[in-house]
Amino acid sequence: MSPQRRAGLGTNQEAVRRHNLGTMLRHVHGAGHTSRAELTSLMGLNRSTIAGLAGELESLGISEHTTAVGGARQGAGRPSAGVRIAPDGPYVIAVDLGVDRAVVARVGLGGRVLERAQAPVHSDGEAWQVGAAVAALIRRVVEGAPATAPLVGIGISVPGLVRRSDGLVRLAPNLEWHDVSFGGIVLAALGLDVPVSIANDADLGALAEHVRGAGVGVDDLIYVSGNVGVGAGVIAGGVRLEGAGGYAGEVGHLRFNPQGRPCHCGNLGCWETEVGGHAIAEAIHCPPDKVAQLDEVLEGFTVPTRELRATGTAVGHGLASIVNTFNPRMIVLGGYFRVLYPLVGAEVDAGLADRALPAPLESVTLALPGLGSDSALLGAAEIALDPLFVDPVAALGTALVDVRSRLVG
Ligand SMILES: [Zn+2]
Repeated sequence: MSPQRRAGLGTNQEAVRRHNLGTMLRHVHGAGHTSRAELTSLMGLNRSTIAGLAGELESLGISEHTTAVGGARQGAGRPSAGVRIAPDGPYVIAVDLGVDRAVVARVGLGGRVLERAQAPVHSDGEAWQVGAAVAALIRRVVEGAPATAPLVGIGISVPGLVRRSDGLVRLAPNLEWHDVSFGGIVLAALGLDVPVSIANDADLGALAEHVRGAGVGVDDLIYVSGNVGVGAGVIAGGVRLEGAGGYAGEVGHLRFNPQGRPCHCGNLGCWETEVGGHAIAEAIHCPPDKVAQLDEVLEGFTVPTRELRATGTAVGHGLASIVNTFNPRMIVLGGYFRVLYPLVGAEVDAGLADRALPAPLESVTLALPGLGSDSALLGAAEIALDPLFVDPVAALGTALVDVRSRLVG
């Protein structure tokens, strides 16, 4: 239940305390290690309340006490007591499903990747086969988990349209999925019942870059994911822009070239057909079966081809439409764009400057992901961790302990 709904029902002391506990945990999660003095000023609560909340997080096994935090001092030069994430505390499983591979990680609070594994996925495979492959990776990453550490939930990133209300994958074109309940498939393959959250890869990339990547402190940020398909995740005013159904940000299907190539969506000349994986592959004469590994192929280039420079210009032109529509402070270039931009940055910048309106252009910066190729993976971890920040007591109530023996035996 959201704090807003709880507030609507009328507040009581227990609800307020749990809300404060979650808020404190969100601060500690963001910083990894902070002082009580810092928390006192961030949360606007008095020192004894902060000490009480810190003690409760400790007794829940989520955080631990430290004697001093470098630089953070209160009155008379006395070092402030610190709070940091407990090393064997709650964790989540994050899954980044791509069109050719799945990456799975066990992630703790503070965004710490504790264990990771990956395996190829066949894009023509049935969803249950992909689910079985993901479940096998999950078994691998929980093998080393301490028996007492609770599994809070599973977060999954998919390259497709995900219905917000129930996590149904409405369409993942490059996996050829229509209306797939992938979260349910993974849980069934594991034989577990834990909360599962699932969302679009670009949306999760935006979230992770905002929380702990290139866009920390940037409240108007767009993460553009240039993969086989192209999409964007939008953070507006510090909040994820999801749209009515959860499908906002499909910038790959902005009409770009009316005389262009057919797109899988049924239109002609979508931006994705000009700058997506297949277009980039064509520009560097990379065989179509290598499209899924395009980032590695691009990394081998030092001088861009003429066609690749034209692709850079097309990237810039499309970004201009995004800048004109949303007026972001920062655009983070993820997916293949992360390796494309260092090659054809001048063309991207010129294309953007050429088409963007001067006023919104003034305030935008293009950036590479602070989290490298892990943005979507860490975003998946964030949505799985989120219940802990709403109500840590309730989230731990539905968490599973001794997962290793249940899954690995
Ligand atoms: Zn399209």
